[in-house]
Amino acid sequence: MKTLQKFGLGIFLTGLMLFCSLIFLGKYQLTHQEFDALIAEKGIKSDLFIANINSKVTDKAFSGPFEFSKRVISALEEANKVHRKKREWSKVIWDKPHSFSYEVSKKAGKGMIPNNKGWFWFLTFGLGIIGSLLYIIPNLITLGPPGIKNNNIYFDSSTNRGFMGWSVFIFLVSFYVLLYFFPDYIVNWTYIVDPISQSISGNLASQWFLYGFLYCVVMTVMAIRMYIKYRNNKYQILRTTSVLFFQIVFAFLIPEILVRFEKPWYDFKNAFPLDYDFFFSWNLNSLISSGGFGLFILVWGIVLTLVIVPVMVYFFGKRWYCSWVCGCGGLAETLGDPYRHLSNKSIGAWKLERWLVHGVLAFAIVMTGFTLYTYFSGTSAILGIKTQSIQSTYGFLIGSVFAGVIGTGFYPIFGNRVWCRFGCPLAAYLGLVQRFKSRFRITTNGGQCISCGNCSTYCEMGIDVRAYAQKGQNIVRSSCVGCGVCSAVCPRGVLKLENGPVANRTHLPNFPLGNTLD
Ligand code: SF4
Ligand code: SF4
Repeated sequence: MKTLQKFGLGIFLTGLMLFCSLIFLGKYQLTHQEFDALIAEKGIKSDLFIANINSKVTDKAFSGPFEFSKRVISALEEANKVHRKKREWSKVIWDKPHSFSYEVSKKAGKGMIPNNKGWFWFLTFGLGIIGSLLYIIPNLITLGPPGIKNNNIYFDSSTNRGFMGWSVFIFLVSFYVLLYFFPDYIVNWTYIVDPISQSISGNLASQWFLYGFLYCVVMTVMAIRMYIKYRNNKYQILRTTSVLFFQIVFAFLIPEILVRFEKPWYDFKNAFPLDYDFFFSWNLNSLISSGGFGLFILVWGIVLTLVIVPVMVYFFGKRWYCSWVCGCGGLAETLGDPYRHLSNKSIGAWKLERWLVHGVLAFAIVMTGFTLYTYFSGTSAILGIKTQSIQSTYGFLIGSVFAGVIGTGFYPIFGNRVWCRFGCPLAAYLGLVQRFKSRFRITTNGGQCISCGNCSTYCEMGIDVRAYAQKGQNIVRSSCVGCGVCSAVCPRGVLKLENGPVANRTHLPNFPLGNTLD
């Protein structure tokens, strides 16, 4: 079995290395016809930019994306500088330079990768999937008798912040930096998923389609690992299936199919303020101009946030969303499961968590207030502060850096719920309802606790579960996402996730425990 697993690891790493090397390969050559098509599509009015591209880029061959992108961006910035100086606002190209360069690169890619999309898909995604399954599935045979095994978790360098952990961290952070800030460097990755994108939405793949597809693949493979690891725990199997379903159907397929029918791209489960740009003017305008269906989305988005989310948290706690529905939670629970013990359990981390997560919620609410005020009043600023700058700051700091680069990139260092615990404004909102008005709690049969600490070790939200268990005190914490792993790993059956009357749910028991002699 070990040999088979090593073989699988080898295949996986081959696929991964090929995937990474695609960045540096390929040929880029923009023809005049392609450039003319781009000018028409984007309504570009800058003669200067057109002249710059014609002299620096068109009909020249570039190997790799870097020089090509550099020339496109310099053509764009030079033209924009002149137009801004002359206040020729209609000629300015407002796109972000690397996003614009992505669109040009997507048209300009030539050679073996765009011509052999299927083969490159197999050599990267295909080998990655086959290799991972060969590594994971033998565990079904070698795990032995029922029980959740975390054997050697603190001795394995990939899960103890060792060399492998840091390598995965560097890979993940680099991936997110490229995805969010340098999409023009990863055009080759998007070519290999073009056929899948075209078959679902009818369009060529963007970097966001690539991300959505990769997200679903990674979650599916790691969900198989979850099914094997937690195979005797019905709660874990059901919620893993649930997050997988919501990710593939709601976050990936339905939005792409909507695009095929010329409707707005929309993830019906993504509630505001996690969906922070829901009330941005471009989104409101797009929904309003899409007729009845757009208005339905608008009403659904508001009802989801103001009614469905809090009512469901009242009945079931935030677990219904964070551990059963949410895409961020879904990735944390599948890809992130091997890192759950790395969450910081200190009081300092708890304090930081409360400041940060509620700070992000306040930021999101203030930004949305400003946005709606400017939308309805027709102004562009309040108290001299431009709404656009607040939105850009939030999008960069929270939407990209916190949610993406830190939120997932830091799994191997800070545990799998960095974003959910420290940054997600929706988690903060759900947490407030859970803490003050919910039927959810984890009950503890303290007399049975042997203080082994398994529950605290594997709590991904950094909750010191054992401290509550030792006192026999119910756990009602705003951050608990109800993953149920504390209960699953407890050898004494001390912990139980329950819904019950709100009154007295946080109280200590009024019967004596072995450890409350006084
Ligand atoms: S307390 Fe238990 S159920 Fe809540 S987040 Fe921690 S491990 Fe999951
Ligand atoms: S896992 Fe169970 S027995 Fe161990 S410390 Fe936690 S509650 Fe106590």
